[in-house]
Amino acid sequence: MRYLSTRGEAQERPFCEILLEGLAPDGGLYLPESYPRIDAATLARWRPLSYPDLAYEVLSLYIDDIPAADLRALVRRTYTAEVFGDARITPLQPLAPGLALLRLSNGPTLAFKDVAMQLLGALFEYQLGRLKQELNILGATSGDTGSAAEYAMRGRRGIRVFMLSPHGRMSPFQQAQMFSLADPNIHNLAIEGVFDDCQDIVKAVSADLDFKRRFSIGTVNSINWARLLAQVVYYFAGYFQATTRDDEVVDFTVPSGNFGNVCAGHVARTMGLPIGRLAVATNENDVLDEFFRTGTYRVRGSAETHETSSPSMDIGKASNFERFVFDLVGRDPARIRALFGDAVARDGGFTLDAAEAARLPGFGFVSGRSTHADRLATIRHCRQQHGVLIDPHTADGLKVALERRRAGVPMLVLETALPAKFEATIAEAVGFAPPRPPGTEGLEQLPRRFEVLPADAQRVKRYIADHCAA
Ligand SMILES: *Cc1c(COP(=O)(O)O)cnc(C)c1O
Repeated sequence: MRYLSTRGEAQERPFCEILLEGLAPDGGLYLPESYPRIDAATLARWRPLSYPDLAYEVLSLYIDDIPAADLRALVRRTYTAEVFGDARITPLQPLAPGLALLRLSNGPTLAFKDVAMQLLGALFEYQLGRLKQELNILGATSGDTGSAAEYAMRGRRGIRVFMLSPHGRMSPFQQAQMFSLADPNIHNLAIEGVFDDCQDIVKAVSADLDFKRRFSIGTVNSINWARLLAQVVYYFAGYFQATTRDDEVVDFTVPSGNFGNVCAGHVARTMGLPIGRLAVATNENDVLDEFFRTGTYRVRGSAETHETSSPSMDIGKASNFERFVFDLVGRDPARIRALFGDAVARDGGFTLDAAEAARLPGFGFVSGRSTHADRLATIRHCRQQHGVLIDPHTADGLKVALERRRAGVPMLVLETALPAKFEATIAEAVGFAPPRPPGTEGLEQLPRRFEVLPADAQRVKRYIADHCAA
């Protein structure tokens, strides 16, 4: 399997070469040259498999430069009941007939990003070991991504993490989660500024190509293909739990921000998994809902991006969206350069032409939007009707799922975090604090390790240089 760039001007490369990279050199995103197709016989063969064995089957269609025995061992070490709290890894929780949550948030940081990030950590360690190289991961986080990355990379050979976060602006639980890690390869840098300042520093450091090369700087952001690929697996796992036959159709609703999670659903559907519709749920930051309603993609700047009570979906620009549009425009890299290279950069967006708009319904997407009031009402409703407490992001999903349900078609809502991470909003909705999962009760009392630095790329570079055995 070779990987190509959506912008068509980068060399095609095997999986292990794109594994450690972000954007392609031409500014595009990597995608497989084609999607393997799954027939009914394969679905039937996969149905009884355990999660790690299913993951192996899916991954091995896309990864042909890691020996099979190594890939299988790596996947089995990653997806364990010890790490994910349940041997099913992503168990289905029925709410009502034809309506269920696919529970993705029982990993170490209580959000779905663990499912992909834990695999990424294992793949990185494996590949760096083969190359006898080291990697210094530099990232910016406002919450879920940073903690998932740190818990996936802690203690791994050949890897250091330098994670920038806005000083004092993460939720108390998120701060405790990240800052309590004692592993010497994890560095928390609390930046005196906002999230955008952190992101600007990451960009500035990465733009210094000499520094980047000298200190082997890499990233783990949401455009990494291996992360998206790992997420494809749970659409299959959810489908098998929700059905008994291999021709039943199932719909999914996905709380969305950067379009990574739901793009994995698009890949699963393209492979032949009988997904009817993919409902894209947004919060007040409704770039994606607007696109699927109107065919117009209009990026929002940071001034136009709202701070909401489902903060992990507060994005003005969906970094994985280009992957889907590439498939929508018939995988035409010239058209992608015109839309994303030119129109988005110049005009802040684009509108599909008539032929593209006519193709859009064939991809099965529908969409919806949720507000703070909807979120609170849905958390309350889910608790009263079904006895299940959900987090604010999952509530955005459930709100849209209830609008988009179809008679006779099971609707699976992807749970993207546990309520314990968002205490204040849960208390506002139901009047009490969410329960703490086992192992997180005393988190805030643990000693903390972090360094406060000014919003200055030079200071961050110096910190990295001082903490690398270069
Ligand atoms: C990251 C995140 C999302 C958004 O997922 P995308 O892949 O960016 O669309 C939704 N909910 C939670 C809790 C998240 O952490």
